[in-house]
Amino acid sequence: MAINIAIDGPSASGKSTIAKELCKELNYKHLDTGAMYRCVALKVKRTDTDYDNEEELQNLLESINIDFTPDGAVLLDGEDVSGEIRTDEISMLASTVSTKKTVRMHLVKIQQQIAKDKGYVMDGRDIGTVVLPDAEVKIFLVASVETRAQRRFLENKQRGIECNLRELKQEIVERDYQDTHRKHSPLRKAKDAIEIDTSNMNIDEVLDAVLNIVRPKL
Ligand code: C5P
Repeated sequence: MAINIAIDGPSASGKSTIAKELCKELNYKHLDTGAMYRCVALKVKRTDTDYDNEEELQNLLESINIDFTPDGAVLLDGEDVSGEIRTDEISMLASTVSTKKTVRMHLVKIQQQIAKDKGYVMDGRDIGTVVLPDAEVKIFLVASVETRAQRRFLENKQRGIECNLRELKQEIVERDYQDTHRKHSPLRKAKDAIEIDTSNMNIDEVLDAVLNIVRPKL
């Protein structure tokens, strides 16, 4: 029987990378919930929505359409925005709009609906605590700020995105603070989640560690 796997952790802790690898290994589907908050942020920017105005925010959420192609591209109202949602500006704006209860309620409902069929690896900040409190496996990935900034730096370089290591580190610290201190669903480890510190591990090692936790549950 298929199960659901929740992967939470701070930004750049390797959640998406591990979720994708895990999906390949288990033939499961991946839901990157961070991409959904990023889409809301991009639409807020494009439509110049005042996110402190409840009515404007509600109107935006009612009209937004977020989708994923089978190969993982992110579609906002039908347009491929996979690259555009990864800029530093959208990362910070996603963190800010995700503090809004209206946004969280809207996206959590969609995420829960999707996961009903099981067979999902879902990654985010509140998957084990709020979205899927009954997930059969809950993983909490952590890594030092230095490691996370270094990883993001290399990732950006590969994508051809100009960046500065010091600024990346600063952005990670700011997002960590905002994500852990917000009122609604702050980032925290679920009581029954298993924490893995990936600071000194490569992708294969993390994947092995996660598979050792997942396999007995399948
Ligand atoms: O995971 P990613 O870095 O792409 O997420 C972007 C932002 O979206 C995070 O900094 C966080 O504020 C927010 N987020 C959230 N809950 C989730 C996933 C992401 O609040 N489940």
